[in-house]
Amino acid sequence: MYEERTKVFKGVIMAVRPICRMGNPILRQTAAQLSPEEILSKEMKILIQDMKESMDHYGGIGIAAPQIGVSKQVCIIQLEEDNERYKIESQFPFSVFINPVIKVLDKKTQGFWEGCLSVPGMRGYVERPKKIQVDYLNEKGEEKSLVAEDFLAIVIQHELDHLFGKLYIDRIEDVSKLSFNEEFEEYIVPTLSEDEG
Ligand code: ZN
Repeated sequence: MYEERTKVFKGVIMAVRPICRMGNPILRQTAAQLSPEEILSKEMKILIQDMKESMDHYGGIGIAAPQIGVSKQVCIIQLEEDNERYKIESQFPFSVFINPVIKVLDKKTQGFWEGCLSVPGMRGYVERPKKIQVDYLNEKGEEKSLVAEDFLAIVIQHELDHLFGKLYIDRIEDVSKLSFNEEFEEYIVPTLSEDEG
């Protein structure tokens, strides 16, 4: 951690950081909210850039600060069609969510085989509310509100969970629906309808 900070002060702007994996207690803490001054700080810009660099490097579609060892309420999401880990049809531009608050708009749930950089090599079937609203601050400290449904709603809920000490595996109701990637590809993918995989 100290070395990372030294690098920051020496002006190394973008860096792929190691991912904290399940078992690391930082993933189980509620992350701290950011003050307006912190949001606009240089350290925050570097954190967001490192998060983006790390997300792209590991092939994620979202990443939360605790996953790179920073217990602050910030996560980023970017959905692109050419992502290698997920077959994605919806697109969502790179976005930063700070101090987010979620509201469920439709309690009807949808299920999806989720994966997580902090739980590498696995997929698990999770049901989550289909439609949500998230109120948050962006990287400029501006108040934003977003209504999301379908896949984007899943991704937002997954990333926000990271800010409150939760992992997707906590939300798996049927533990028989937890699989290693290879077995997922071999046995489960062939049985899926289009919107589950
Ligand atoms: Zn995750």
